[in-house]
Amino acid sequence: MRVPAKVNLHLGVGALRPDGKHQLHTIYQAVSLYDEVTVAATDNDVVTVDLVGEHTEDVPLGDDNLAVQAVRAVAALAGVDPSVHITLRKGIPVGGGLAGGSADAAAALVAADALWHCGFERSVLEQLASGLGSDVAFLLHGGTALGTGHGEIVSPVLSRGEWHWVLAVAEVGLSTPSVYAELDRIRGADVDTDEAVADGVLAALRSGDVVALGKALRNDLQSPALQLRPNLARVLDVGRELGAAGGIVSGSGPTVALLAPSAGDAIRIASSLAGYDVCRTVRRATGPVHGAKIITL
Ligand code: ATP
Repeated sequence: MRVPAKVNLHLGVGALRPDGKHQLHTIYQAVSLYDEVTVAATDNDVVTVDLVGEHTEDVPLGDDNLAVQAVRAVAALAGVDPSVHITLRKGIPVGGGLAGGSADAAAALVAADALWHCGFERSVLEQLASGLGSDVAFLLHGGTALGTGHGEIVSPVLSRGEWHWVLAVAEVGLSTPSVYAELDRIRGADVDTDEAVADGVLAALRSGDVVALGKALRNDLQSPALQLRPNLARVLDVGRELGAAGGIVSGSGPTVALLAPSAGDAIRIASSLAGYDVCRTVRRATGPVHGAKIITL
């Protein structure tokens, strides 16, 4: 399985719900940074995990791993023993606000369904996905989509052409719960949930207007992420100086996603940014791309 990362072009965070999740109004785009996930049958009655890739020390190998939870969810529904070995090749930076864990969960759902010949409907996999995390259902689909509920209710939106992203990956990840907690602390009970704010992003996507999209990018988690990591402001400033049409903290951060006016600009911005020493690595990606997909390795 190959599964992409995501960036949020709009991330509106609403009220904290009684179930502990925040109401979200978000526009996702799947971008061409990938994890590769394989799920192979074994005969030892356990789920084991192998990790391949850099900076994977924070990825759990047991039941906290979202791919393990996904496999167990499919096994429970299918009534089979989850005797499998999962290999995760992490091309998506860990803890970067790019939903790498959720991506692995989406891929593992599809892989387990195929392994045990379950033939579950998409809607069943989506249901399992929404129990695993806010972004998992989107990563089954990919493309560009609106996410509501806690992010798990996904509907595709029209996006014209290809968008070019430069992703500035930070040295150390940020914990998603701590960024939400900081947001709750900053704004207290004062929650503005005007969904029309996303209209600028939707219009720019429809018309393929990169300048308009750059201006319309918005993320309610950006202020708390900047509060926790003040040096991210410098990355956004440098991105603008280098000619990005816009820049945004991706999800809960700390990756900064810079929107390049063209493919050539993306190459130029990425190579210049690498010289500024404001992040650990710089990656280029395009979107939208497919969600979790079976590939022949
Ligand atoms: P989010 O999906 O909340 O935006 P993120 O993109 O910031 O998260 P991830 O790479 O998904 O970051 O990892 C966040 C944490 O999730 C990791 O530090 C790790 O503890 C846990 N985790 C669980 N399963 C996985 C997985 N398969 N890959 C990566 N991290 C995982």
